[in-house]
Amino acid sequence: MNMDVIVSLGKRRGFIFQSSEIYGGTGSCWDYGPLGVELSHNIKRVWWRDFVQRRADMVGLDASILMHPTVWKASGHVDNFTDPMVDCRECKRRFRADQVDAMPWVHYCEATRGNKFVVPAGEACTHCGARRTLCPECGKGTLTAPRQFNLMFKTFMGPVEEDASVTYLRPETAQGIFVNFDNVLQATRRKLPFGIAQIGKAFRNEITPGNFIFRTREFEQMEIEYFVNPHDTIDGRPADEQAHDVWIEACRAWFTRYGLSPEHLRLHEHAGDELAHYAKRTVDILYHFPMGWSELMGIANRTDFDLKQHAKFSGKSLTWFDEERKEHVVPYVIEPSAGVDRALLAFLLDAYREEEVRNEKRVVLRFHHELAPVKIAVLPLLKKRGEIVARGHALRDRLARRWVTVYDDTAAIGRLYRRQDEVGTSYCVTVDVKTVGDPEKGEAGDDKVTIRERDSMEQIRVPIEALDGVLARLLDGGAAWGDVARDFPRAEG
Ligand code: ATP
Repeated sequence: MNMDVIVSLGKRRGFIFQSSEIYGGTGSCWDYGPLGVELSHNIKRVWWRDFVQRRADMVGLDASILMHPTVWKASGHVDNFTDPMVDCRECKRRFRADQVDAMPWVHYCEATRGNKFVVPAGEACTHCGARRTLCPECGKGTLTAPRQFNLMFKTFMGPVEEDASVTYLRPETAQGIFVNFDNVLQATRRKLPFGIAQIGKAFRNEITPGNFIFRTREFEQMEIEYFVNPHDTIDGRPADEQAHDVWIEACRAWFTRYGLSPEHLRLHEHAGDELAHYAKRTVDILYHFPMGWSELMGIANRTDFDLKQHAKFSGKSLTWFDEERKEHVVPYVIEPSAGVDRALLAFLLDAYREEEVRNEKRVVLRFHHELAPVKIAVLPLLKKRGEIVARGHALRDRLARRWVTVYDDTAAIGRLYRRQDEVGTSYCVTVDVKTVGDPEKGEAGDDKVTIRERDSMEQIRVPIEALDGVLARLLDGGAAWGDVARDFPRAEG
């Protein structure tokens, strides 16, 4: 799967645009267009419904992006949220020190009178045998020694730009949950284990953003902090370890349930040297992105590190009272942390298919129906007939009260179907001459429309009065197309 195909489809059909494009764009920020915003909302809505609303042990939260600056001292971000970077003394470009060797490099080869070559990453020049020592981009400047670079965006709170008013755009949503731990506990009278979830923007001044929306400087996270009593055991194992395994499986199952192929997902266990100092164990779910296996989300056992740090820095007790054991405990926390944008990219990539239908290429996004940006497209077979168009508009207005529904009459029907396939619209509803009849010929309409299913392209003829019920079975009830289609006559494609 080629990323360029998705970037181009994304722009052409209104999923994703480059931010500030008319000014030359920014390489690190992207905007969701009319379809992208629906897709992103659907991912967040389904995640929130499945992991928060449907579970008795979860509640939600929406903390502010700007927080007290001490939060970031307590969390360790001020001191440790850094990447090592090197600068080119000539072109001033900046690279992550641990990534320069993984880049193709520009080389002016003396053995060929200074000709310019781009040598593949990690390889030597085939003419002179030299290896990279200079800047990989310009091929001329020497690189500085690595320096630690903090990834947090700094800003000022209030009218005076002075050190005392420095604050940060949050680099993760998690800390908003930790600092509200006691508020939630008091307000909801929860018992362990329970979790708090949050969806929101996060900001990181990444040194090397890239791969489309995979790594950006402004992105959205869906995070859960699941608090567990470390003194409990389940099946002879510490409760936090057991909960960690359960969350890893729940997250993996969630991604496959909504469309990612199980072969495109893999677990990555952090080895000792990769593990954050506070983490007992971390497992990433990797997705097979076009640039290779890369992190889709992480699930960490952060122990009691964060609550203890915030208790220390704030002077407030952040514990839970265990009535049975009559003791105060600082819960351990399991943190499933996913990026909305990486999830969206993975769902787009996995849904994309090029198929051959009647000797023509058909591009289709086979989204899970819950994620599809548009559920229904109402299409008139003949634009010239006023009654057909009027009936189409009326249908769209009615269906749009329950589902995202569009109307399109800007091309012939075959073309309209292809356009809807390309953006993953679940069902097309077509109004034709038979629906409205022909008064000139004395023919009454049958008040039926055709429903076409995206993946099989099968069509059935359904009375308009039954239409809402049929679509409700398919879109809200999760009924399989085959089971619903069986009840109605097939229509010709
Ligand atoms: P990476 O190693 O890719 O930089 P990370 O391990 O720093 O990611 P976490 O801090 O664990 O990431 O953040 C949790 C999730 O947030 C990631 O799995 C990813 O989905 C998302 N995320 C993190 N950084 C970015 C970013 N710069 N752009 C888009 N999504 C991001």
